[in-house]
Amino acid sequence: MIPACTRYQTDGMRWLDGELAAAEAERYEAHVRECDECRRELASLGRIVRMTSELKLRPPDDEFWKGYWEGVYRKSERRVGFVMLIAGVLAIVGYVVVGVLRSPALLTYEGISVSLIVVGLLVIFISVVRERYHEHKHDPYKEVER
Ligand SMILES: [Zn+2]
Repeated sequence: MIPACTRYQTDGMRWLDGELAAAEAERYEAHVRECDECRRELASLGRIVRMTSELKLRPPDDEFWKGYWEGVYRKSERRVGFVMLIAGVLAIVGYVVVGVLRSPALLTYEGISVSLIVVGLLVIFISVVRERYHEHKHDPYKEVER
């Protein structure tokens, strides 16, 4: 690398900002055409400038609140789903229990086996739901980031 390049590299930022005088800018442009090092430097500077101006243009709050409300909506939607699911499962279990109590014919080997399977599935289901619920409680921003 030629020693002069460090100066041209610092000029790159000013050139992108349009702060260089016409003669200076011309000299800088001429050098960039000749020098690979400065061309690379200018390209990466250009990327950074584009990035920062994009960040400035877009109000960062917009994206955040959009994600936030989507997260809130998804969560309440899911809560309604959970309530309906649990109500449905409880209704089926209640129906089966009432059926078993009303007709002793269901208190057979098969009937008891099926009841045990249903109760076992219900216990697993409740435990999974509770685990999920606690995960959500401990990590409230998980949904927002996705
Ligand atoms: Zn150079």
